[in-house]
Amino acid sequence: MTIYSSGQQSIAVPKEEWQNQLVNFVNSIEKLEEYINITDEERSVLKANKTIWGTTPYFASLMDPDDPSCPIRKQVIPSREEQVNVHGMDNYLVWKENRDNEENRPDTIARQYKDRVAFTVTQNCGIYCRHCFRKELVVDGNLELDFNVEDGLDWIAMHPEVRDVLITGGDPLLLPDEKIAYLIERLRGFSHIEMIRIGSRVPIVMPQRITENLKSILGEYHRVPIWINTQCNHPKELTEEVAWAVYDLMSCGINVGNQAVLLKGINDDVETFKELHQKLLKVRIKPYYVFYCEAAPGIDHFRTPVEKGAELIRDALRGHTTGLAQPMAVVATNIGKIPLMPDYYIKDKDVREYTLCNHKGQVTKIPNISD
Ligand SMILES: *Cc1c(COP(=O)(O)O)cnc(C)c1O
Ligand code: SF4
Repeated sequence: MTIYSSGQQSIAVPKEEWQNQLVNFVNSIEKLEEYINITDEERSVLKANKTIWGTTPYFASLMDPDDPSCPIRKQVIPSREEQVNVHGMDNYLVWKENRDNEENRPDTIARQYKDRVAFTVTQNCGIYCRHCFRKELVVDGNLELDFNVEDGLDWIAMHPEVRDVLITGGDPLLLPDEKIAYLIERLRGFSHIEMIRIGSRVPIVMPQRITENLKSILGEYHRVPIWINTQCNHPKELTEEVAWAVYDLMSCGINVGNQAVLLKGINDDVETFKELHQKLLKVRIKPYYVFYCEAAPGIDHFRTPVEKGAELIRDALRGHTTGLAQPMAVVATNIGKIPLMPDYYIKDKDVREYTLCNHKGQVTKIPNISD
């Protein structure tokens, strides 16, 4: 509880539930012990750990107390394998976000495309994901950016070709309401901005953040709509609390999509992958992307073969469940996102017809119209 002194009186202002989630952030061995039975291995890695780690009490409560291979635990608790780095690239984020370039952009602006940019506004998160591709900035703390949003806003104002701004971080929804309101208001004030996107794990790791005030800042009918893309990687993350947070966002006109990361041992088997995508729709989240786990340093142990995402779409989703549940599998690179889709659909083609194949291996023919 914060005590503000106002003139003669002291007024006690209770914190909102989401602020308590941050005050009680689970980022020490003692706090973690309130949720799980820490293994000797976890304890020894945590004691030597020099990176930023932790999550909210809400998300920590989803951990299996006795199973160290729990998918929530593996996303939250540092592992010894992070120190093994064979394939990770040094200065990954500088490469990935084209930060070393001739266009003079402020630190907050990452650009790969003409009509849209990523606007990085904070390095704080509601979970410090062990698999994060921005881990140099967010988890390891060896990339420093200047988060002066004024420079970013000025840059956007001077670039009328940008019609779509993706606010990212860290996690933008960890910012205070006033700061979010300011960013949205300024961006909506530029006549060339047609849509705003927010990349945030908050609906999944801190659904308490979706308050009435936040809804009034982001929501209601507006010329410039807001899309939130969250990150849910395992069906265990989809709780009743998340379902309500998503419903609340949608009820004021905000679209919610998912950008999962394909993680070895967490969601790279057919059953989990299917359940994840079916359950996302069940809580009204539209699967958008499944990202190949990127070549940031120290996350080799989470990476699958490159083709895995396409294989899972073929074996778990396409034809096996509704097309609404189907994300696009992509590899995010320095030259943009590259789709990697299954390639079994066209079995054969000649001047007269195409032979098409479905998920059961059945074939059918349609005419080939040449132009
Ligand atoms: C991912 C990304 C975007 C948005 O890409 P979409 O395919 O439109 O979702 C924009 N800019 C950067 C730098 C990105 O990394
Ligand atoms: S919430 Fe996003 S930015 Fe933060 S650690 Fe996780 S993946 Fe990285």
